[in-house]
Amino acid sequence: MYDENNIFAKIIRGEIPCDKVYEDGDVSFFKDINPIAKVHVLGIPKSQCVDFSDFISKNTPTTISEFFRKTNLVIKKLGITKDGYKVISNSGTNGGQEVPHFHIHILGGEKVNLSI
Ligand code: AMP
Repeated sequence: MYDENNIFAKIIRGEIPCDKVYEDGDVSFFKDINPIAKVHVLGIPKSQCVDFSDFISKNTPTTISEFFRKTNLVIKKLGITKDGYKVISNSGTNGGQEVPHFHIHILGGEKVNLSI
């Protein structure tokens, strides 16, 4: 069940500010408020989806691929393509997800000390 009062839903509605990197009618990319790397940007679709699985199951292949195509455009815009980066999506309790609106973390700008 989607919580319409989660913090990213409020960002999408413009109720709270964010430091935008890229936005269009379907997606928003903005800086993480508590960065863990020199570059730490979050990417979200504007449609209501709780996590990765919810995003994939509720959307068309075109919408899904467009989200990741735009993710790559943002990575290029951030200038981190050559030196490398991580793209991470936390899901649910075991994944350590804090905000229940599907999002990806783009991490780079330095060696990212997160190992899997
Ligand atoms: P996750 O643990 O994957 O759910 O990550 C949620 C992320 O959202 C964390 O890295 C937070 O620092 C970030 N965050 C929470 N509130 C805001 C906000 N108002 N603006 C930008 N990032 C936020």
